[in-house]
Amino acid sequence: MIPRKEIHHILEGYAKEEITIATIGSHTALQILKGARDEGFKNIVICKKGTEEVYQQFGLADELLTVENFKQVLEKEFQEQLIERNVILIPHGSFVEYISPVRIENEMFVPMFGNRAVLDWESDRKKEREWLDRAELRLPMEFKDPADIDRLVMVKFPGAKGGKGYILASNPDEFEEKHKKLNLSDKEEFTLQEYVIGTRFYPHYFYSPLTDRVELLSMDIRYESNVDGISRLSYILQDSHPEPSFVVTGNLPVVVRESLLPRILEMGQNVIKTSRELFSPGLIGPFCIETICTENLEFIAFEISARIVAGTNLYINGSPYSQLLYQEPMSTGRRISREIKEALREDSLDRVIC
Ligand code: ATP
Repeated sequence: MIPRKEIHHILEGYAKEEITIATIGSHTALQILKGARDEGFKNIVICKKGTEEVYQQFGLADELLTVENFKQVLEKEFQEQLIERNVILIPHGSFVEYISPVRIENEMFVPMFGNRAVLDWESDRKKEREWLDRAELRLPMEFKDPADIDRLVMVKFPGAKGGKGYILASNPDEFEEKHKKLNLSDKEEFTLQEYVIGTRFYPHYFYSPLTDRVELLSMDIRYESNVDGISRLSYILQDSHPEPSFVVTGNLPVVVRESLLPRILEMGQNVIKTSRELFSPGLIGPFCIETICTENLEFIAFEISARIVAGTNLYINGSPYSQLLYQEPMSTGRRISREIKEALREDSLDRVIC
């Protein structure tokens, strides 16, 4: 991992009045660009050849840089041109996926909003579970051995992109049969996780180290194909339905019963407190805990995304929650730029870029 002091040294050389917010053109880029502009920053979008039109059409970017492949962003000359422009990069889900967490940690010198150390904790399923467990979140049960499967489980393979490739099994035989069909090598690892029945909530939080506050900015439910499609025809399909898949195709807005808000906030606060113990100074900025609420009104958390998530795109103009916190439309993208602006004002950019 690039030592933090090296990144801070680069940041010290920045012209503070010329700070430019940049991200790669995908995922939540439009929201990030708009948020930067609303907070008075210049901005840059890095686009893959052929996708420029989307960003030109909305007219939200001051500058557009085109690459053949997103990994090009790691090239020395490319990074140098970003550093020359006093760029702070905003990571998002696609940014991390396309460039790879390991390569970001070891090769990305351009200052990035947030704490890079989080990449390690979030991309490793075992570490992620340890983090959430220590934060006293309730987690789905896991089975070590397929022979022990005694209820519906989800078989999760590493590197599944947006739930792609997961299978479901209710007993050891069903597992063996479906697993065999996948033709995987014996070395292919997987996690057997209890399938939790309930309603899903994906709360979007923001932690500000400057105010030491966890804010609940918004919430969504992921719309997933083809599991959500199957449910519309469940009584016709009966036993002939295709294997459910969990590929995200969109996001639906949601608010939670108000009596559940204290627990939602507590979960966010616990995750932050534990992150400080595990990887100082801990998680900074946006994050999302992926949960299922059971009929006992208990939240079971199955994953954490330690950055801006795509569900926040619903709320470019603010959400029912952010409207209570802010007097102006506050998206997560804008909240990131607001934090950078505040940090600049307090001369403490190094507290939000670690
Ligand atoms: P991403 O990285 O985009 O969050 P992923 O590949 O890590 O996706 P998960 O988020 O773990 O995949 O799961 C994908 C979907 O599968 C979830 O949105 C949810 O609908 C469902 N899911 C995951 N785990 C469980 C579980 N234990 N019980 C019930 N449903 C689950």
